[in-house]
Order: sequence, then structure tokens, then C-alpha cells
Amino acid sequence: VAAREALERLVVDVPDFPEPGVVFKDITPLLADHQGLTAVVEAIAEAGRDADGNPVVDKVVGMEARGFIIAAPVALALGAGFVPVRKAGKLPRGAHAVSYALEYGEATLELHHDAVSAGERVLLVDDVLATGGTVRAARELVEACGATPVGVAVLMELGFLGGRDVIGDLPVHSIAVI
Ligand code: IMP
Repeated sequence: VAAREALERLVVDVPDFPEPGVVFKDITPLLADHQGLTAVVEAIAEAGRDADGNPVVDKVVGMEARGFIIAAPVALALGAGFVPVRKAGKLPRGAHAVSYALEYGEATLELHHDAVSAGERVLLVDDVLATGGTVRAARELVEACGATPVGVAVLMELGFLGGRDVIGDLPVHSIAVI
């Protein structure tokens, strides 16, 4: 409840950004608020715990760039490591790459070959789940390393875009579905 209230109070809707017709969810006021940030990090970390409150993941993967900000403190809360999924050309060593279609054009995400290991359990974290293309690509990258995605956790899910159906059979934890 605290996390959802923080989202409602502190995330700002920005009409026509980055292009006309899109309402962009600006999370920077939420990040700047200590109580709000604490509440959402703890709520996202719940997705990486079992019913007894014990952590069940080895790594928390964050998607560039806002996913990094949430995923790193979540990893600390779970006693897990943090791993970045990055846009093409940013990672310095050998990496898996997955490309996916955007509304206009294509995007590529990458993950170091050795960032997650075979058998490791991974929580995927981002700020907003929209069409699902980003999370789906991250899932494929983790699986290419032989690790097991156990769930997706996001601050906000734009339910009308149907991202859940694109991701495949993976539990999705959203603090708020819009
Ligand atoms: P998808 O691949 O269409 O699901 O888009 C999700 C990605 O786009 C995430 O990495 C988000 O950070 C970003 N994104 C999409 N819409 C918004 C928004 O309204 N606010 C902030 N980020 C967004």
C-alpha cells in the first residue's frame, strides 16, 4: 500500500513525451523522495522472496537505464548480485545480443556471457512494463546464459498494451497496473 501510494503521489505524467500522443511516466520525483524510494524498493524485493520471506534469487537483472536504479538496491535487499542488461555496444566484453521490434525500427539489448551462470535464479526488474519487448528480450538473454528467470518485477505496468502476453509464462509483479 505504501509503495502504491508513493507511486500515485510522486510519479508525474508528462503528456506528449518523447513524442506526441505518449504520456510518459516520470519517476524522478519518486527516486528523489527517501520514503517513496524505500517503499518501492522493498515492494519490488518482495517479488524475490518466498512466502516465509526468504530470498529465492541469485541475481537481480536491471534493464538500462531506469531499471538499474531500482534493481541495484533490490539486489542488496535480497543478498543477491546485480547484473545490467544494456543497450547495444555498451558492454566491454563478450555478450549475448537479442534484437526486438519497436514501434518504429528495432532495438538490441546485450548481456555479458558470464553475467549469470547456468542454474542461477534471476529476477528481472524495470521501471515500466509497456509492450513487453524489453522484458522479453531480457528473459531471452538470461536463458541464453543457461540461467532461470523466476519472475518480473516493475513499478508500473501499462496494462492496456498487453505486455504480459508478450513476456511468456513468467510471474509479473507490478506495484501498480495502469
Ligand atoms: P516495452 O519494451 O514497450 O515494454 O517498454 C519498456 C521500456 O520502455 C522500459 O525499459 C521503460 O523504461 C521504458 N518506458 C516505456 N514507457 C515508459 C514511461 O512512460 N515512462 C518511463 N519509461 C517508459
